[in-house]
Order: sequence, then structure tokens, then C-alpha cells
Amino acid sequence: MGQQKITVPKGTKDILGEEVVWWQKVEEVVREMANLFGYQEIRTPIFEQTELFARGVGEETDIVQKEMYTFQDKGGRSITLRPEGTAPVMRAYIEHGLSVTNPRVKWFYLGPMFRYERPQAGRMRQFHQFGFEALGFSRPAVDVEIILVAYLIYQELGLSELTLELNSLGCEKCRPSYLSKLTKFLEERKDNLCANCVRRLEKNPLRVLDCKEEGCQNLFKSPSFPVIEEYLCSDCRNHQFKVEAGLENLGISYQINPFLVRGLDYYTKTAFEVKTGQLGAQDAIGGGGRYDQLSAALGVPGVAGVGFAAGIERIVLLLEKTQQETRPKKVPCLYLSPLDEEGEKQVLRLARELTKWRVPFYCDFADKGLRYHLKKAQKSGVKWVLMVGQEEIERGGFSLKNLTSGSQVFLQEDELLRLLQKEKSLC
Ligand SMILES: [Zn+2]
Ligand SMILES: [Zn+2]
Repeated sequence: MGQQKITVPKGTKDILGEEVVWWQKVEEVVREMANLFGYQEIRTPIFEQTELFARGVGEETDIVQKEMYTFQDKGGRSITLRPEGTAPVMRAYIEHGLSVTNPRVKWFYLGPMFRYERPQAGRMRQFHQFGFEALGFSRPAVDVEIILVAYLIYQELGLSELTLELNSLGCEKCRPSYLSKLTKFLEERKDNLCANCVRRLEKNPLRVLDCKEEGCQNLFKSPSFPVIEEYLCSDCRNHQFKVEAGLENLGISYQINPFLVRGLDYYTKTAFEVKTGQLGAQDAIGGGGRYDQLSAALGVPGVAGVGFAAGIERIVLLLEKTQQETRPKKVPCLYLSPLDEEGEKQVLRLARELTKWRVPFYCDFADKGLRYHLKKAQKSGVKWVLMVGQEEIERGGFSLKNLTSGSQVFLQEDELLRLLQKEKSLC
């Protein structure tokens, strides 16, 4: 009896074929923008001590309560696959003593994250994010820079119908007065809250604003519902004002959304989300904000920070649906077709030469005849196909066919390399 086929775990997927070209495109744009703005790459481990996220994301968040991949390793340590990128970045900043030696850093990251959620289109259990973090800067201009970087990445990728939602979450000085007002309001209407929100109300009332349940949503529409804007201290109000002015200066329009709280506990002041209407409904394709309280949660108070993260799955989904005609292609310049065993040897020897000339090629060791090779090359979209069999070896050269014009020539190796070097820019 045959064994059962093994498939990928639920909520994960292989990325291959045409799709992977889109991924490379996104990564290329992210790296290019990081380079232009001077953000250095940081690569943190895929797993961290569980405590990092419990403290750095917040005990009462959905992420920590329900969505983490947590396990004990063989040494009895509690380990968690990273569900997001900001807490690890702050951990690294503190661990490497940067608050003393180099307090202002700009970093970006790119890689897989893990959350145990119900999988759906564009939402996976292993998902991928890129993020930008500026640490040690408290000026509102840096909030604006982060939003600008996000915008430029989306624009460079050709995404349109972008909207920016903005809110301020206050700070440790002014948020408590808002929270007590909010708690009082919700306590008095507890019967209308969903079970989840009743629990949130006790532990972290701000999370209630995140709720999508109808009953809770109806409460938010009440004219007497307290909005945080009215409770901000002068520092937070001033910061918010400068972020708004900075965006206006760049011609980036925004909407204030008083219910935008983001899924993590450590946000202070600026919170934002970028949405696109390209797929009909307004879809969030990234977000971020300021997190001046995060470092304190990790034991070193006073490190300002602002950042942004976006899920690559959702962006790729958008690109696939809206930009098929400009799909980036990866086609080699030259298709190498050995027609027999001696031909294979010649092809491998030539391959080494071609790398020196930086001519991209593809060797097909299919053990097939000329017809197969020509058909395969035609299908791949390549311009040049090179054939080597007994005849070519006897004559001491190569047959090269131009698939665009259909013409074929016989060339010695040095002639061939010279031609391809000239041609490679046209491939
Ligand atoms: Zn404040
Ligand atoms: Zn609710």
C-alpha cells in the first residue's frame, strides 16, 4: 500500500512559478526604497522567548491571547515563533546597547511571521511582512517619513486608490483620562457589548474599539461616544498637528479615524493604516505608528520609536489581480540545448564562460532531440537557442538560432561570446 501524500500544513503555502516573480518584485522595491532612505536591514531570529511578545505586544491583545505559535523546546524554555516584527527589533536595539552607543537607528526587515488564525485569501498562518522602524527619534517629522516611505513603496508597485487613516492614541499622561471615560461609557452599556468586549473592558478597554460585532459597532455610532481626540494632552495634540501638517506639505491626504487602535498594546500618539479600494471594499494593506512605550515594557524606558509594517501576501494578491499585463518576467537570454553526451560536456564548459560575461542562460539536459529543444525554448520566450551535437563538435563551434527572426548561424566560441555580450542587454 502506498503511503499518504504529505501536504503543506494548513495556513502555509509554497510560493513558486509566476507568483514568486511578484514576491521578488515587492522585495526589490522594498530594498530599493530602504536603500534610498538609508534604512539598514536587520534580521532577527524567527523564534524568540515567549516573554518578549507577552510584554512587547501586550498580554491582552488577540495576538498573545489566541494567535501565537508557542511551544516548549527540549530545554524547557517557552519559545514563540515571531507573530510580528517590532518587538524583536526593539529587543535587538536594547540588547546591543544602542540606546547608549548609537541611539538613533533606522532599520527595515523582511521575512516570515506566524499567527494561528483562520486562513483566508491573503491571510496565512505563515505570512510575510516587511517593516520599517526608526528608533530614537521623537520628532513628528519621522512619523511623516515612515508614512512617506510606505506611500512611495505602494506607488512604486503601481497600487492606486490609496487612502490613509490616521489617529492619535495619546500617551501615558493623557490616555488614562480617556480610558476612564471610555470605561465608564461602556460599563453603563455593558448589556450591548459582545462577550469578548465585556472581557476586554476589564483588561484593556481600548481593544473594544477594534471590535467588528454589530452590537458593539452600534455603540460606537452613538453621538455621546467618547473619542480620544478630545482627551489628548497638549504634547500629543501638538504632535498630531505636526504630523498632519507634514502630510499636507507632501500632498498626502488623510482621514481621521478615531476607532483606529491597531492590534498591539504599545502604540502611543500616531497610529495609521493605509487602505486601497482597488479590490472593491476598502482593504488595509499596511499600517503602523509610534510606540514610545514599547521599550519600557521591555525594561528600558524612554526609547522613542515609530514604524510601519505590511503583509506581502495581500500586496501580491493585489498585484496579481490588477497588473497582469505588466507582470514581470524572468526569461534567460540564451537556451543551451545539448543534443548528445558530448554536447552536454560542451554546454557545461560554455556555461562557465557565460557566467564570466554575465550572460544569463538555461541548460536543458533533457536527453531529447532538436525538435523538443526548439519547442521548449520557444515556449520559454527566450530569444537565442544554442545547439551542440556531433556535427557542431566536429566543426569546432556552435549553432545559434535567433527565435525572433528564425535565422541560424554557425559560430566559433569567441565569436559567440562577443555576440552574446553585445546582445545580452537586448534579451
Ligand atoms: Zn498625551
Ligand atoms: Zn465587541
